[in-house]
Amino acid sequence: MSGRRPLVIVGGGAAGLAAALAAAPMPVRLLCRSRRGQGSASALAQGGIAAALGKGDSAAGHAADTMAAGADYNNAALVRWLCTRAYAAIDWLVSLGVTFDRDEYGGLQLGREGGHQAARIVHAGGDATGAEVARAMRRKVQGESRIDYREGVDVDALLLRGNRVCGVRVRGEGGFSEEIEASAVVLATGGIGAAFARTSNPPGADGSGLALGLAAGAVARDLEFVQFHPTALDVDGGHCLPLITEALRGAGARLVDSAGAPLMRDVHAQGDLAPRDVVARCVWQAQREGWGAWLDTREVTGDWTRRFPTVLAACTAHGVDPRHQRIPVTPAAHFHMGGLATDLNGSTTVLGLYAVGEVACNGMHGANRLASNSLLEAILCGQRLGGHLARMPQAQPKGAFRWSRRGNTLPEPRRIELRRLLWEAAGPVREESTLERALQRCAELAGQGWQARLAQPLLEAAQQRRTSLGAHYRLDSTA
Ligand SMILES: Cc1cc2nc3c(=O)[nH]c(=O)nc-3n(C[C@H](O)[C@H](O)[C@H](O)COP(=O)(O)OP(=O)(O)OC[C@H]3O[C@@H](n4cnc5c(N)ncnc54)[C@H](O)[C@@H]3O)c2cc1C
Repeated sequence: MSGRRPLVIVGGGAAGLAAALAAAPMPVRLLCRSRRGQGSASALAQGGIAAALGKGDSAAGHAADTMAAGADYNNAALVRWLCTRAYAAIDWLVSLGVTFDRDEYGGLQLGREGGHQAARIVHAGGDATGAEVARAMRRKVQGESRIDYREGVDVDALLLRGNRVCGVRVRGEGGFSEEIEASAVVLATGGIGAAFARTSNPPGADGSGLALGLAAGAVARDLEFVQFHPTALDVDGGHCLPLITEALRGAGARLVDSAGAPLMRDVHAQGDLAPRDVVARCVWQAQREGWGAWLDTREVTGDWTRRFPTVLAACTAHGVDPRHQRIPVTPAAHFHMGGLATDLNGSTTVLGLYAVGEVACNGMHGANRLASNSLLEAILCGQRLGGHLARMPQAQPKGAFRWSRRGNTLPEPRRIELRRLLWEAAGPVREESTLERALQRCAELAGQGWQARLAQPLLEAAQQRRTSLGAHYRLDSTA
């Protein structure tokens, strides 16, 4: 490495990998907890990446669907930026060696998902898009001499000099600890799904990067907007649940109750492909009323081992053959629209600290993300941020050094309690009394661990927004 302080990127999902590759003319240290590419949400992505490539489709149509799903709360200029660059993102991934699924003429196969008015989801390995994308990006990063890629480590503190972030502390197995000075620090640490009792996210999506940013004084926004996926596999007592991709409903699967009656009939004009928040609430309601919810996939035709190998394997592992049996489903925390407030270059409100991907909130997804827009955002914003930082002159921080620490971890029983609390109070359906009770309990737990301190601003934001909007649904809505 040169004498220049490296750029430190925390997180090895799509956002961190894209940022590292774009910044790579400068020395980069990429640090992540996940190992061999496992443990990031990116590697679990199933449905694919949205891009208006079909006949008659357009970036404007993609943007309109993104705004509609986001309840028009999105930043419209950023939505246009995202949708007009989708083709370039797919092209770039192909150049890295991503093998997308193609038809017999060599054209990209396009799937359909909820909230999209057109078939525009580019996918790989049937429902294994994330694994293929992460594989190719990781291989490219590992071949880059300017990127020092380290897995299996946890960043638990940020170093500040004066008011500028200029380093991190890393912890690893066997008491390993290292302090690294950096030209700038990028948080690409993913979402917060694992903070809830039921999630489609990996266990490491616990919001630790968000907690680090908040501890350093960065401003967060839209924390109340959490997307709940309507169809995770309902494994009794499970926390991190296998996802049952929405593409199955695009291929003809239907949500039904225990009596086989269609759940989405007369609920929304788009039926089973209604926006996720609408479908998730319907499934939640059916569970609460004791009807239960199943995905009837028996009419889905074609070769499951090629079209939906991930779902087939997950269901089979739990004793369900989706070709002949209905799949028990539950809503699960899936994606955080809120996060550390950033501009399009990933700048947070703290000098030297950047955020990108799911941990960041630039307003693109509004109050509810459109399906298959997040890998796209992670890649495009990661590339933009990396390029921006590579061009920036290195700042010379002045003043006293100090550490901003994430702090102690809650003991396991309290973490389980907190997950249940968040699920009940800030899950798909919210109301004042449960939010208030959860906040009181969080205040009691706040001294014991960072997870409770992180839950507080999320619950407060959900309490303060008294009107339902997008994925934030108040049973006691004032409008
Ligand atoms: C099951 C599932 C299916 C999905 N399907 C799709 C889809 O089809 N299309 C789509 O667009 N989106 C999909 N999404 C959403 C999408 O995958 C994520 O929003 C996106 O991949 C987030 O990328 P990221 O790089 O921001 O975070 P991640 O991919 O989650 O990566 C976060 C990284 O940060 C690391 N990390 C976290 N904290 C620390 C720390 N303190 N120290 C060190 N490292 C840390 C983690 O180990 C990981 O490497 C899906 C999500 C899930 C869970």
